[in-house]
Amino acid sequence: MAAEVPTFKLVLVGDGGTGKTTFVKRHLTGEFEKKYIATLGVEVHPLAFHTNLGNIQFDVWDTAGQEKFGGLRDGYYINGQCGIIMFDVTSRITYKNVPNWHRDLVRVCEGIPIVLCGNKVDVKERKVKAKTITFHRKKNLQYYDISAKSNYNFEKPFLWLARKLVGNPQLEFVAAPALAPPEVAVNKELMAKYEQEMEAATQMPLPDEEDPDL
Ligand code: GDP
Ligand code: MG
Repeated sequence: MAAEVPTFKLVLVGDGGTGKTTFVKRHLTGEFEKKYIATLGVEVHPLAFHTNLGNIQFDVWDTAGQEKFGGLRDGYYINGQCGIIMFDVTSRITYKNVPNWHRDLVRVCEGIPIVLCGNKVDVKERKVKAKTITFHRKKNLQYYDISAKSNYNFEKPFLWLARKLVGNPQLEFVAAPALAPPEVAVNKELMAKYEQEMEAATQMPLPDEEDPDL
């Protein structure tokens, strides 16, 4: 009999329209095997990854859009073992709301590993730039630029979380999961420039207050 695959509940939060559902649906077997919890209005996508230490599964919780009407019920967060907070780099307000999502998440799920993701980096008119993205540094979260529609950095948040959850920084993904084909392409040079800008921004001192110009 095959051993149970270690499975972790991943709570996905962020403003409506930031691309959470688009992101989670990229993983094709997860999309195929998703389960709907009618009482909570939640879809749970089982996302499997193959690692050098064996298989791992994230049960990713995604809302049916309730976040557009305010906060989420505690049942959404309870027993969450890791989290992704998503904002949209083309919408400043979605970044401004990140501290609220973080507060709600850690209130129920204290001390879990969390990744902050800035989605839609494929869009040329980026509004939230590297130097404004500082929240993760104050709260010890990991940060990644992503583009759900292009699959850019799709695996990065999961790899970082898997290493934290397993407690082994040597963990590697050994096979790529089947992903939906990209709907847009990202510009490689521009992505390299964004990475450099983020690296440079991490060398800067943290602001005391949130940027009033945000
Ligand atoms: P949710 O409310 O957070 O679940 O967001 P959705 O997944 O419903 O996406 C909201 C809108 O953003 C939809 O029109 C998506 O097609 C669009 N979107 C999602 N991800 C991306 C992306 O990476 N790039 C671009 N350009 N649009 C995206
Ligand atoms: Mg959604």
